Amino acid sequence: MTALDLSSASSGARDRIWHPWSPIQQAQRLTLTSSRGCYVRDDDGRSYLDLRAGTLNATVGYSHPAVVEAIRDQASRLMTWDLAEVSTPPARELADRIAGLLPEPLEYTLFCNSGSEATEAALKIARMWHRIHGRPGRTVVMSFADGYHGATTAAIAATAAPFRRDGAGPLPAGYAHLATPRCPSCASGEEHDGCMVPGAAEWEAQILAAGPETIAAVLVEPVLSVGGVIVPPPGELASLRTLCDRHGILLIADEVATGFGRTGRMFGFEHDLGPAGMAPDIITTAKGLTGGYAPLAAVTVRTDIYADFACDPLLGGLRHGHTTGGHATACAAALAVLDIVEHDKLVPAAASRGTQLLEALAPLKQRPSVRDVRGLGLLIGVEMASMELAAGVAQAVQEKGVLIRAFGPVLTVAPPLIISEQEAEDGARTLAHAIRALPSGEGR
Ligand code: PMP
Repeated sequence: MTALDLSSASSGARDRIWHPWSPIQQAQRLTLTSSRGCYVRDDDGRSYLDLRAGTLNATVGYSHPAVVEAIRDQASRLMTWDLAEVSTPPARELADRIAGLLPEPLEYTLFCNSGSEATEAALKIARMWHRIHGRPGRTVVMSFADGYHGATTAAIAATAAPFRRDGAGPLPAGYAHLATPRCPSCASGEEHDGCMVPGAAEWEAQILAAGPETIAAVLVEPVLSVGGVIVPPPGELASLRTLCDRHGILLIADEVATGFGRTGRMFGFEHDLGPAGMAPDIITTAKGLTGGYAPLAAVTVRTDIYADFACDPLLGGLRHGHTTGGHATACAAALAVLDIVEHDKLVPAAASRGTQLLEALAPLKQRPSVRDVRGLGLLIGVEMASMELAAGVAQAVQEKGVLIRAFGPVLTVAPPLIISEQEAEDGARTLAHAIRALPSGEGR
């Protein structure tokens, strides 16, 4: 193994931050110094339209004066967090607000700091809840094979293979995967006679193979984000709900990437479960909860699940928490963000701007370098023929003043929900231009 040679960089020019997702691209990394609306600015004074904001789920855009003021006001008024013996007005109000946005059975919220922590808490809750009900054998968690649920050890065990980093193991036992609801031949760009998206029949076979009596929960993203913007066809999530009910399994919706408007509904599960009058049993949220302004995550559970823990004498509650989870300042930021999302009608805005972007980008499917263009609301994926092509296009648009993130071969177009019609048009034009400029043989 050759160690990375750092001797050539002068000590002042060294970036001493360990960036574990891409340690060797330091030369290309921008240093951002300010932000406003849908734009960020680097230390050379260059401004960029930020279409990667979905990574933070930065719904209301950057440096929104009302959110900045709410943070300032709360930090100067009361600096504390939410632990067993104390609570604060913003944390209590936020828990009420979240309950008000969700269907009735989802009522009680546990706060933490990151999406990964929310995953960990949700999985603990699911397993312990079965135990409370005398089913200690139900410990397995099933998740989509291409899902992403975080970077902590339990979360990676539930996450897609490329993120599992087996060298960091042993990973905990008790995880199994469900086929991702996408067509294998569409995904590989092959010709086919019809889509072959896995659904209820395949999932039930996988549940039966794993042994339903061993399964605690199914954990899924309503729209897969990091795994490549995969939108399950209508009805798929509802059929998963039915399967969970049939086999006594809890359904956990990971709304870390999709929650609070990103897909054109307040929550991603609403596209499918809502109209059928169904809901998940537990939902996890983070990122969009504060629009990216502060670290905060939430696990919201059915009333009866909370009640079972609250009165369980043996376990004495969940015994779980994080020092800064539910920090008053983060909760104040979240309340300000939710006010803006509702007042400025950003959820329907995400739906219409998303349609505009999808229509503008759809013709790129004709290009040999592009496998697919898909998405829901302002979570859009342009799947290129290779990772290298995606990375090249991301670099090319950056030079033209637009930031887009590539997850593997998929360019993820996910701007703040406040993006204007003109900004969306400009962003789509720059991306289309960069793709059309690829040499004609690319991707064949
Ligand atoms: N779940 C989903 C769907 C995510 O997109 C992410 C983050 N990309 C996480 C969980 C983990 O969140 P965090 O990075 O805050 O730990």
